[in-house]
Order: sequence, then structure tokens, then C-alpha cells
Amino acid sequence: MTIERTFSIIKPNAVAKNAIGAIYARFETAGLKIVAAKMVQLTREQAEGFYAEHLGKPFFDGLVGFMTSGPVMVQALEGEEAVRRHREIMGATNPDNALAGTLRADYADSLTENAVHGSDSTESAAREIAYFFTESEICPRTR
Ligand code: UDP
Repeated sequence: MTIERTFSIIKPNAVAKNAIGAIYARFETAGLKIVAAKMVQLTREQAEGFYAEHLGKPFFDGLVGFMTSGPVMVQALEGEEAVRRHREIMGATNPDNALAGTLRADYADSLTENAVHGSDSTESAAREIAYFFTESEICPRTR
């Protein structure tokens, strides 16, 4: 068993749709446990720092504008193969390519406003969790 942690954001458009509970239910049904969570209104600096790897890309400013357009929910999820399992539940980055039943197929409005974020590796997950949570804010569920 490989218990991992991953990092998730419910983006402003999905929060605005009142879909937090529905999305949490998908995580829990898939066996992912929420070990830390909070609602945050991102500042421009926070959003730019989080997406620093995309700095200079044509979609960067639009992405930062969207991510600061309203509150987001950020959470750390724990479970077996959490990174891969969470990416499966989310679906493809572009909702046009997202499989039916995935979060992006159900809640995305566009490629930028694609409802959810999930870490792409355990290394990214560790960095992204630490970007939003201190160690004392994380409550391990698997011990
Ligand atoms: N994005 C965008 N236009 C693009 C590619 C990405 O607006 O052409 C946005 C989209 O919101 C995506 C985020 O930038 O979720 C980060 O992109 P990445 O390629 O890391 O996709 P993800 O890991 O979120 O699936």
C-alpha cells in the first residue's frame, strides 16, 4: 500500500456553483481523506507564486485573474496512490477532453476555468501543501 498525500484546489468557479460538498463527496467516495482544508481569497502574489512554473505563458495573466476572482477551497488529501487517483477523478486539464463523470467534465466552464487543481506528482504535492498549510494544520488520518 502506498499512502500518499496530494494537494487540491476547488477553484473560484466551482465554489461559486456551491459545489464544494459535491466535490468533497467525490473525494471521499474514491477513498481520499481530507487531512487539511480551508477557504482562501488568494492575493495576486499568492496566485502568481503558486503558478510560477507558468510565468510568461500566454494564459498566465488570465489564470491569475481567474484564481483571484473569488474564494477557493484548498485541501490536502491522503490515501492510496492519492496523486494518481485524484488526477483520475479530476479528468483532463481541458474539459473538452475530460471523461464523463470526472470533476472537470461536470464543473469546468473552460480550459482556464476548469474547476479544480490537483498535484501532478508527490514532489509537487509536498511543495503545494507546504505553500498553504503548516505541519500543525495537517491531521494525518492513516495512523
Ligand atoms: N491553463 C490555461 N490554459 C492553458 C493551459 C492551462 O488556462 O492552455 C490553466 C488551467 O486552469 C490549468 C492551469 O492553467 O488547470 C495549470 O495548467 P497545467 O498544465 O499545470 O494543468 P493541470 O495540472 O491543472 O491539469
